[in-house]
Formats: sequence, structure tokens, C-alpha cells
Amino acid sequence: MKKLFPTSSAGSLPKPSWLAEPEKLWSPWKLQDDQLVEGKQDALRLALQEQQQAGIDIVSDGEQTRQHFVTTFIEHLNGVDFEKRETVRIRDRYDASVPTVVGAVSRQKPVFVDDARFLRQQTTQPIKWALPGPMTMIDTLYDGHYKSREKLAWEFAKILNQEARELEAAGVDIIQFDEPAFNVFFDEVNDWGVATLEKAIEGLKCETAVHICYGYGIKANTDWKKTLGSEWRQYEEAFPKLQKSNIDLISLECHNSRVPMDLLELIRGKKVMVGAIDVATNTIETPEEVANTLRKALQFVDADKLYPCTNCGMAPLSRQVARGKLNALSAGAEIVREELSL
Ligand SMILES: [Zn+2]
Repeated sequence: MKKLFPTSSAGSLPKPSWLAEPEKLWSPWKLQDDQLVEGKQDALRLALQEQQQAGIDIVSDGEQTRQHFVTTFIEHLNGVDFEKRETVRIRDRYDASVPTVVGAVSRQKPVFVDDARFLRQQTTQPIKWALPGPMTMIDTLYDGHYKSREKLAWEFAKILNQEARELEAAGVDIIQFDEPAFNVFFDEVNDWGVATLEKAIEGLKCETAVHICYGYGIKANTDWKKTLGSEWRQYEEAFPKLQKSNIDLISLECHNSRVPMDLLELIRGKKVMVGAIDVATNTIETPEEVANTLRKALQFVDADKLYPCTNCGMAPLSRQVARGKLNALSAGAEIVREELSL
């Protein structure tokens, strides 16, 4: 992009209350069948319009067509039984009842490609599309078939690659893989996590991103954050390998977090989506607070590689708060843009 500091959101935006119960994860749909299809498209249009009104440069669908950033993708695959549920510990943090892998996993048909095509029709702006990453997918399932996290991750990487190639063909400019699990399973990240991610982006000509965060602003995550001490150095574990990888952009949580900003030096050369909006609070940042976070990041990220972003998705927030935060992100980026053009 030519514009300095192009803004975007990490992914999800709140859904309208007529589509799903707001401020809730895994919120059930309020519509059915054809009405649901139409409702999701209307919500996507609204999410796009809200980003445009806020002046966001790289827009997304706000994940309006999915119930959850991981589950909805998996629901479309063969080999996973959603009736057969087991309780597992997600990212070593909280227990959840999850579906079971009962056979070989495969993708019958495209999952999000029609939605991406629909978004493409609505705007000429660059669009970003998020998919779950292989490691985060396996962490949200009970595996009764492969009995190997690594094997299952490679299978998911192949499926994600099929989906990503079709998203690219539908006109998506940046395909992002959400890998919050990269902040938890450090040995696996280095053994096969980054490798499976590279499998997922194999052959793509569009830009690719990985989003690594400390999670949505839900209680299980905020409680976990309290145990992480005064300095969060989790990124340090995956960064060296990611720096050498083929991934173009790395999306990170920076604002209000205890991540030492100098860790960004470890991925020098990559484009960095700097999280300058805290999604775990209803307090709307001032533009100056956003600008401050961006200025700190500029010490370690070249200006032409800095992409102001949110720390994570905003699905659990109210629409009003999310709108305010998008506006603040835009205004904060503009402050720093002007400073640099002086
Ligand atoms: Zn996130």
C-alpha cells in the first residue's frame, strides 16, 4: 500500500442484535435458512460501512457470517463429529466442550469463498480475510482419529491451503491466519507450528498474515493474563522462526499489554500489524493513546511496514464501543502520519 500506516481490525466486529445475541461468543443465530443467509449479508454490509465511516483502510467482513472464528470453519469439514463432544482444555486455560475428530479430515466445498466474493463486490478497498491457523484449530478439538497434534495440524494446513487459494482467486488481498495458540505451545510452534502455517500459504501470491494475541477480552483470558507477570515475553519464542518464514505480516497485541515493545526487533523486516486498541476494555482509547503506542512501535518497525490494528477481534464488545475504537484507531494513525510528513 502507498498510504503510510494503513489501518485495519484484527478480525471480528460485533454482530447486530437482530442477527445474534450481542456481546457473547458462540452466540446462536436468531434467523434461519434463507433469512439467515440474507441477514448475514446485510450484517456484512453494515460491518463494512462502519469500517469505511471510521476511515479504516484495509477492510474485512467483520466475521459477520461466522459464529466463532475457529468452530465455524471446522463445522464445514468432513471427519469431525459435532454431536460427539469431549471436554478439553483450550490453550491450557479454560475447559470447553468440543467436537471430536472421528475420521480423516477433508473439505467438501469452499467454506468462506462466497462470503469473500460478496465482500469483494461491495468495495474496491483492499480486503483482508481471516482463517484459523492449523495449531489453533487442533487445540479446539478432541482428536480420536490421528492421535497426533502434529499430524492433524498438517491435515488442516492442506485444507486451509485449498481454502486460501480460492479466497485469493475471489479477490482477497491479505489472508490472515489466527494463531493465538502460538503464544502458548512454544515447543510445538518451533517444531511444526510455523511449518504447518507455511504449508497453509503455499503457492499464494496475495499477502499473508498471522495474528498472534492474548485472546478476546473474556474472563478466562483476562484471568490468565494476570498470571503472566510484569513482562509478557511469549512472542520471543515464535519470533525468530517467524522472521525467517514466508509470512508477510505479523499481527500483534501491543496496546495496554505487558509485551516489551523491543521484542518487535526480532521480526525486523516483516510488516507488523501493531495492536493499538485494547479489546478487553470498554474504555475507548483517545487518538493520542493510539498514537503513543504507534510511536513506541516505530522504534522497532520501519514506518513503511507499520500497520495500525486492534489487539484482537471485537466480537464480544458492544457495537457502539467497537465503532468508537475504530474511530480512535484511524485518528491515532493520522496523528503519527502527520508527524512523519512534517
Ligand atoms: Zn486475537
